[in-house]
Amino acid sequence: MRAWLIETLGRLLNVGETDTAFGRALLEERYRALQKQIPLLYLVALANFVGLTVASGAPLAEATDPAHLLVLFVVARLAYWHRARRIVLTPDKIIVELRKTLVLAALLSLAFGYWSMRLLLLGPASQQDLVILFTSLAALGCAYGLASFPTAARMPLLLLGLPLAFVLAGSPKLAHMGVGMSLGLVIFLILRLLNVQTASFTELIRSRSRIEQERERAQRAERTALTEKARVRQVADSDPLTGVANRRALLSALGDRVSDRSSRGLALAIIDLDGFKPVNDTFGHAAGDAVLIEVAARLKREAPEALVARIGGDEFAVIRSEDTELGAFALGERVCRALGRPYRIAGREYRISASCGVSLVEPGTSSAAIALGRSDAALYSAKQKGRGCVALFTPQLEAANRRRTLIESSLREPKVLDQFSLVFQPIFDLDSGAIRAFEALARWEHPTLGQIAPSEFIPITEQINVIEQITEAMLARAAAEASRWPAPILLSFNLSAVQLHSAASARRLLRIAARQGLKPARLQIEVTETALLADFDTARLNLDQLRKAGVRIVLDDFGAGFASISYLREMDFDAIKLDGSLLTEATCSDGALRLLKGVIDLTASLGVPCIAEHIETEEQLRLLRRLGCRDGQGFILSEPGEARLAKEMAESRVDRIPSTLTSHRSRTAA
Ligand code: C2E
Ligand code: CA
Ligand code: CA
Repeated sequence: MRAWLIETLGRLLNVGETDTAFGRALLEERYRALQKQIPLLYLVALANFVGLTVASGAPLAEATDPAHLLVLFVVARLAYWHRARRIVLTPDKIIVELRKTLVLAALLSLAFGYWSMRLLLLGPASQQDLVILFTSLAALGCAYGLASFPTAARMPLLLLGLPLAFVLAGSPKLAHMGVGMSLGLVIFLILRLLNVQTASFTELIRSRSRIEQERERAQRAERTALTEKARVRQVADSDPLTGVANRRALLSALGDRVSDRSSRGLALAIIDLDGFKPVNDTFGHAAGDAVLIEVAARLKREAPEALVARIGGDEFAVIRSEDTELGAFALGERVCRALGRPYRIAGREYRISASCGVSLVEPGTSSAAIALGRSDAALYSAKQKGRGCVALFTPQLEAANRRRTLIESSLREPKVLDQFSLVFQPIFDLDSGAIRAFEALARWEHPTLGQIAPSEFIPITEQINVIEQITEAMLARAAAEASRWPAPILLSFNLSAVQLHSAASARRLLRIAARQGLKPARLQIEVTETALLADFDTARLNLDQLRKAGVRIVLDDFGAGFASISYLREMDFDAIKLDGSLLTEATCSDGALRLLKGVIDLTASLGVPCIAEHIETEEQLRLLRRLGCRDGQGFILSEPGEARLAKEMAESRVDRIPSTLTSHRSRTAA
């Protein structure tokens, strides 16, 4: 019995569910309809209550009358619903609200029913018709007002209208009996209508909720498609290893920024890692990848508001808003500093550095391609300066690059050797005035650029790997000339760093000289310590081989670079040529003079003869003689001259150093 009661009560209070979208939509729809209708409904109830009160003939002052309390309660509910007419509730709250409505509908119907029944049976007969009218109107009106909530709508019908209909139907008065039966029929009709309306209302909400669900599904699908599209775009625009933008994305961003006249200026930095390849080759690709990932991370850290991209294997780019060249350069410096710090990865430390070329791009004045070209040109010039350097693009730099590109392409042309010639500059025995050797110096007359100095083209020939062809051709020509000079005079020939580092160079050089009829003993090779520096072992192998064959080896430009004494210890030289700057500065300051004296003394203590170059004044010549330098070369003694002149000088027996410049001893000897 108790279980049945609870179940029935549960069923009665079951006003809806919140588990399905349909259930929730039904609740919301029902509540919305009630919000609109209930105030009206209470107004109907109130009007009928007041009517009934008046019909009852009870004095209005009797405040304790339960009928008055009922009226007050209805007024309070009316105010409550008036306030709640726009409030949006959650489905759970709606359920509470609907249950309350249901219970109140039942209680109010019972209270109204009880009151009107008492009035009908016990009140004055003259008011009976009014009581019947107000009660029926209240029952029908309230049922209609609650139509969107059928369970509640049945309450006034079943608890208020139906009892009245029964009582009236059983009345001895014929008219009342008729009203009772008619009321019963109307109630029956409305109950049926309620059922029909409930079914169609439910169906309406169901289909609306289905449409809603369908729309949500479509929206979800659209959102998924958009996310997927964004993901695909992200993949297409980013570098899979480092996650930063790729070359494509950089070019498109750069294009947008450059063509947008309204945007600020920007700095475009191109970064190339120095020494990355050895990391990759020695420690494997996993280590290389880890370094690249760290490089990208450092770039993002250094320029958080910038666009960072990986545009090549070990090439990165950064675009950032920037208005001044100073700011652009500072960006490059910061980036280089950050990338030059050691990389600690999986317990190992890697050291690389980065070269950076920066250009300042003014929006609307350039194109992405030009901007890239400029930063590239700056990068190129940064690399020329050495590792870990920054260069800012300037118009001068562009001109220098154009010149350099022209020189490079000219040097690659097969007929370039026709533009080359040789001059010879004698090296004298400072004491006797005799010519010991002629140093062969290359000259290049470019068809459009004119004379290009060896100090400019030799490094380029080394970098683009054409130095061997050029040196070998020059050696062949020089050897051919030297073979015609009187026997003791040597050919002094400069060898570049690159040539000393290929294993077979000694053999090739000897063969070239031999082919021109020049004995190894008449060949002297000048090498700089920078040439030795890069690969000392191979260089020594070549020089040893030449030396064994009888070629003399001279250490050139000693005192210009690091002047490392270790070379003097580890390798035997036949002479040491002091760098021109040592002499030039010696006549200017006491310190420099002491340095020159020290170096000459050093060569003497090693027992290696010393050659001075760049002798330009009599004072310098006197100084060198005083300090005991054996040989010398310089403009005051003789400028480099054509082969014919060299041959004439070599063959003339007298005045090999102009007589005014010969030493006191040699003059008295003569
Ligand atoms: P280097 O070996 O030190 O050559 C001496 C340079 O000093 C030459 O310049 C010469 O013209 C210059 N010189 C001679 N006397 C004086 C003087 O009194 N005062 C001054 N200020 N300079 C003087 P050049 O011919 O321009 O050569 C520059 C450098 O280019 C050479 O320095 C040499 O390292 C390199 N070089 C020249 N020809 C060749 C070549 O055929 N092969 C290679 N590998 N290098 C070459
Ligand atoms: Ca030289
Ligand atoms: Ca020199």
